[in-house]
Amino acid sequence: MGQDLDRIGDNFQRVRETMAAACARARRDAREVALLAVTKSAELDAIQRLVELGQTDLAESRVQQLTKRVAELQAWLADRPDLAERTVHWHMVGHLQRNKVKPCLEAADFLHSLDSLRLAEELSARAVRDGKVLSCLMEVNCSFEAQKEGVAIGAALHLGEQVTTLPGLRLVGLMTMAPLGEPDRARATFVRLRELFEEMRHDKIGGRDFRHLSMGMSDDYAIAIEEGATIVRVGRALFE
Ligand SMILES: *Cc1c(COP(=O)(O)O)cnc(C)c1O
Repeated sequence: MGQDLDRIGDNFQRVRETMAAACARARRDAREVALLAVTKSAELDAIQRLVELGQTDLAESRVQQLTKRVAELQAWLADRPDLAERTVHWHMVGHLQRNKVKPCLEAADFLHSLDSLRLAEELSARAVRDGKVLSCLMEVNCSFEAQKEGVAIGAALHLGEQVTTLPGLRLVGLMTMAPLGEPDRARATFVRLRELFEEMRHDKIGGRDFRHLSMGMSDDYAIAIEEGATIVRVGRALFE
């Protein structure tokens, strides 16, 4: 076990070094890019180790698992006065079904997978009822794959405009997934998302809050940073 946790520390350091090197190549300030640790394949003690090492942003792709993790981490942090100053933010990064809106709002600080007006309206209505504003990123399908989740590029600008009129949501950026197992095609996907982002900013959609590009996973986060990612979502490279 102890050895496994050493490996988590090594992984964490390696990922951060890779991020720093990508920032240097792209002449970007490393503080512009946040690491999101996707914990869906991780053991609880590995997540705890990352938090001890200073990781603040954690993510899950299913609401049920998110709810469980949030409770586990809260209970653990309550017993660790040495970490009392630590704020952990939870992100929901997987497809959200409309019947999971309530538990998602209870557990998540950020939603990366806003992909329809109906979902947005339900989230907003529930958030208003709960006295909250949920920070959301709109998921866009930039890879032209029929079965992929996310809004089509051609529909994204309009949906973005609609979302910014909803009182319970704050549109903070865009998210995309590169085609899995095809790192060669990842860069084109990320460039497309960045171009859309710039077009929306030019149209003043979302105002100053609209500033995040969530793109890049274990196989392609360095490429995503070169193309402008402000949030990378990394699972396997941290936990395997
Ligand atoms: C699992 C997952 C990730 C992390 O993927 P890895 O390949 O493990 O780095 C990122 N984003 C989403 C939406 C995921 O479901």
